[in-house]
Amino acid sequence: MKEFEVIKEFFTAQPVNRKDVAMGIGDDCALIRASDSKYIAITTDTLVCGVHFPTDTPARAIGHKAVAVNLSDLAAMGAEPAWISVAVTLPTVDREWLAEFTAGIFELTEYFNVQLIGGDTTSGPLSITITAQGTVPQGKALCRNGAGNGDWVYVTGEIGEAGLALQALREQVSLSPREMQHAMDALNYPKPQVLAGQVVREYASAAIDISDGLLADLTHLCQASTLGISLDVNDLPIAPVLLNKLGEEGAARLALTAGDDYQLIFTVPDTNKVALETELKQANIKSSCIGQMNKSQEIIISRGETRLSFAESGFEHFS
Ligand SMILES: [Mg+2]
Repeated sequence: MKEFEVIKEFFTAQPVNRKDVAMGIGDDCALIRASDSKYIAITTDTLVCGVHFPTDTPARAIGHKAVAVNLSDLAAMGAEPAWISVAVTLPTVDREWLAEFTAGIFELTEYFNVQLIGGDTTSGPLSITITAQGTVPQGKALCRNGAGNGDWVYVTGEIGEAGLALQALREQVSLSPREMQHAMDALNYPKPQVLAGQVVREYASAAIDISDGLLADLTHLCQASTLGISLDVNDLPIAPVLLNKLGEEGAARLALTAGDDYQLIFTVPDTNKVALETELKQANIKSSCIGQMNKSQEIIISRGETRLSFAESGFEHFS
């Protein structure tokens, strides 16, 4: 069973439906009505050693990433992060490791003015679970289901470099020491797009962060909004190193499928397009328009005029 099937079959049917829950299971965060003007956005993410990060990952990177992936979900709702709880399961109490791990946590919490307010420590195989909470004005939260037909689709930053690092670790691609360092930083120290989320919430109709991969997360957004999207791979903000190492097709394939980018995907109605682009430029946030929502309920990928079909093995042109 896939993760989403497990959630659907066992966790969505429940005996309680409180009125203060504005958004329950199924989006990047839950939304709780805190007052007449404010929601609290809440998300939880677990990182398991050997599953979500390689066993030899530096402790500082594990702390950083555990916070970053949670703040990324807050960013995807347009929320301002405020509090985290950290539950950590440790195989041993290693003071040096813990000092590095907490330094990784606190460098991000300090930057975003987030307070650690609690958690739990237990003994067992290494795993970290963080719950992050933030606030968003009512009516401004960005959900996956808000995209409209004809809305433009954007991605922040660049994508694919964390995926390239994983390929290099599996020795599927060879990188220079400098390229490797840069790619490993993208994998280990993702920068949650918190400011971008707060800027775009004024203009966007829907948003999601890229954790599973551009294509997978676009699919979640399309399904929630019961729409499709047409996108042109020429418009994807692919990290240049991917193009150098993998060529056009390999780079596009990795950028579409690799996870761990933690950039934001968001959709914008045509009437807000100019204002949004002006605002993002003023805030110095890189973004790329990659396509447009449509009624097809499928993801249509092309390169220029040529439509591509996408399979695990790569692109195949439609005959
Ligand atoms: Mg997410």
